Amino acid sequence: MIYSQPELPYANNALEPAISERTVEFHYGKHEKAYIDNLNRLVAGTRFDDEDLEEVIRHSDGALFNNASQAWNHIFYFFTFSPDGGGEPKGKLREAIDRDFGSFEEFKKVFVDAGVGLFGSGWVWLSTDADGKLFITQGRNAENPISQGLKPLLTFDVWEHAYYLDYQNRRQAALEALWNIIDWKVVEGRYED
Ligand code: MN
Repeated sequence: MIYSQPELPYANNALEPAISERTVEFHYGKHEKAYIDNLNRLVAGTRFDDEDLEEVIRHSDGALFNNASQAWNHIFYFFTFSPDGGGEPKGKLREAIDRDFGSFEEFKKVFVDAGVGLFGSGWVWLSTDADGKLFITQGRNAENPISQGLKPLLTFDVWEHAYYLDYQNRRQAALEALWNIIDWKVVEGRYED
């Protein structure tokens, strides 16, 4: 199977000022393209050749896992954003956030703290289990909660390549800016799906 890179549903400059045009060009246009190119090269001729990307993530390791997971993670990340994003989640997702974290404000704080506290490169994730309980987890490098049997709902990329052009060492500011571009309808849909 040839994995292709979907075109973003917004212009490269549409997420400014939270994420600059230059960062979208490098992060999605070059870093993500490289993960997908590597994935296609590494998966060819393996038993994963005809598998869904999520199956590759569940059952592979080493370089194949790293590139498969990074390919998936970045599409998941970039397709959570909208120039019309921001605000607060509603519906069942909001009820679960209030139940499991106390309030939306507290959830945002715990989520950003988990991202800031992750040493080195990785991702901070909001996921759910089969019962609808919410979890915030840190993933090192390419790690993804799919491997733990959880269903991802939201992720922030904390690799320096995600924010260094715009924020340099200010990871917390970079993460807090992302709340302004989250399309909560996308996240609510993942939770209710
Ligand atoms: Mn990245």
